[in-house]
Amino acid sequence: MLCKRCVLPENKPDIVLNAEGICNICLDFQKNNAAEPRPAALESEVIKILNKYKGKGKYDCLVMCSGGKDSTSSLYYMKKRYKMNPLVFTFDHGFENEEALENIKNAVNILGVDWLYYRSDSMKKIFTHILKSRTKAPICHLCAIWYLGLTLETARQQNTPLIVAGWTKGQSLGKADSGLEYRAMSGATGDFVKHYLRKIPEYKDFPVSIGEALKRSRGRIKAEIISPHWFLEYDPAGAKSILEKELNWKAQKLSYPKGSTNCLMNFVNVYLSMKNYGYSHYHIEMSKLIRLGELSRQEALRMLEIDFDRGFVGDIIKGLNCGLPAD
Ligand SMILES: [Zn+2]
Repeated sequence: MLCKRCVLPENKPDIVLNAEGICNICLDFQKNNAAEPRPAALESEVIKILNKYKGKGKYDCLVMCSGGKDSTSSLYYMKKRYKMNPLVFTFDHGFENEEALENIKNAVNILGVDWLYYRSDSMKKIFTHILKSRTKAPICHLCAIWYLGLTLETARQQNTPLIVAGWTKGQSLGKADSGLEYRAMSGATGDFVKHYLRKIPEYKDFPVSIGEALKRSRGRIKAEIISPHWFLEYDPAGAKSILEKELNWKAQKLSYPKGSTNCLMNFVNVYLSMKNYGYSHYHIEMSKLIRLGELSRQEALRMLEIDFDRGFVGDIIKGLNCGLPAD
């Protein structure tokens, strides 16, 4: 049973539904918001931040771009709307899909911006360890810790202290994995890193969380990480039509959540999260958007419908020499 207001299922003790079927996260939000309504983020705020960095180095900002709708529109806004000179950064752990890479190629060619494409097999071994150990640590958590460290290091090397992401308001950084609704997954990630991964010499320094990855990099680079979507109205349909028209952008044929673009391991992550928790991090992110009034519950439920199966997921991980846990 899902919360009647958002799309979180009960997961005791962190997520609990009351007699009316409303979860504690929604009730907390209602209480805090009534006491202190949050001011709307204004576009003038993002412009103020961008102006701090404009013209200071070879590039004004490093834009993380995966070829998906949100990150490609971030890039589009930086170049066209805010007249920034961005360096585009893409990381590929070997499971990036061709359609997404094609989108990035089109965007950088049409916009005439520099592009840094980083392809590494280093995450592949970690994916195998996740599958073999049967940990409940979400694949995407481990990957986020890795790519954030990588992006910060790239920003340092390029002397570009402003990092621009394509995260929506449902995906704020730092605080994102500290809420009650994240606790079970973050706990599993921390345990896996501490008690399994770090026992392997090459991963002995792997951060236990995104927070730790950020804290560590702070001594090396003072980077600011923002997403223009935090300051703008959420309009995925509008963004999509601009990208299709101006950047020859194409939606992925099969995606999860519907209408998104993600790497292939994302399907594996969702499959295992549903099995381990009954929800994925998308349920958490969309629930946040629903509470903020940026997404309807009905639309979230439609996007969260699963239309891929175990066989499809098994094919993705064929090369990892490790199967899925039994049903
Ligand atoms: Zn709820």
